[in-house]
Amino acid sequence: MEDKTLVCVECGKEFTFTEGEQAFYAEKGFQEPKRCKECRQKAKERRNAKRAEAKPAEEKPAEIEEAADEPKAE
Ligand SMILES: [Zn+2]
Repeated sequence: MEDKTLVCVECGKEFTFTEGEQAFYAEKGFQEPKRCKECRQKAKERRNAKRAEAKPAEEKPAEIEEAADEPKAE
């Protein structure tokens, strides 16, 4: 295997998909990365930030829905 040069779909820059990474991806059954390391890192941070923000918000509507679906006989 050789290092591959791929083009990032996000920033359009070329980046190296190294031999070691290719082996890792193949082992995990992943597809070739579409983004460079920088953009992947940014995407990861965005996901983490989203998850941190989304968590309490996700829980709340579910509770409200449940409460709305089950009218309490009081
Ligand atoms: Zn990029």
